[in-house]
Amino acid sequence: MSNDEPGARVLVVEDEPKVAAFVSEALSEFGFRPHSVASGEEGLDELSSNSYDALILDVMLPGMDGFELLKRAKQGGVQVPTILLTARDALDDRVTGLDLGADDYLPKPFELAELMARLRAILRRHSSNLKWLTIGDLTLDPVSRTVTRNHKRVDLTAREFSLLELMMRNRGRTMSRNEIMQVVWDDPHAASNVIPVYINYLRAKIEGSGKPRLIHTVRGIGYVLELRDAHATESQA
Ligand code: CA
Repeated sequence: MSNDEPGARVLVVEDEPKVAAFVSEALSEFGFRPHSVASGEEGLDELSSNSYDALILDVMLPGMDGFELLKRAKQGGVQVPTILLTARDALDDRVTGLDLGADDYLPKPFELAELMARLRAILRRHSSNLKWLTIGDLTLDPVSRTVTRNHKRVDLTAREFSLLELMMRNRGRTMSRNEIMQVVWDDPHAASNVIPVYINYLRAKIEGSGKPRLIHTVRGIGYVLELRDAHATESQA
């Protein structure tokens, strides 16, 4: 996936290099931006000096352990959605972690797919901006930055994705070309005639033949995304 609109920043604090590497690789693959450190001290430093959307935190760390890190981060006013990696069957660890404000825990060894699913879940819980957007059978997931139509994956470029996300967040409202330009291009020198071009790219990908049109042209103004009666007359762009 091209990435001029990058995904959530995730800090991984894990002292086992193998686990750290495989978690980081998976995070990148799933569209997140991981940063990995090997000790609680470095983790606390990172959290205090940079902003992260989520934390994956090993409990058993040499020196400052995961619990101590959580405690100090909290005292320092840093709050970040957190998944703890705990030893299997360490019930006390889970209870302590949740008491300290962790959102979830995963006993080691764990499946990467489960870690990713839990990460997406805590990110959604913490931000209404990250909830799924749907219209008809079209679904956009702002966390994994994926789009499906009728359960089938639709591959979009980063720009097409941003354009669709903007339109889905404003469904039913006509967006002027100017408004779209400001949000999606953020470049005063971009030519406004790129918009119809991108709208057509997007239509070609999300409105397969025989499917109802979702993006409608509002002549002289811009575009609106909405479900309309299939029998209504459509003005073509
Ligand atoms: Ca460890």
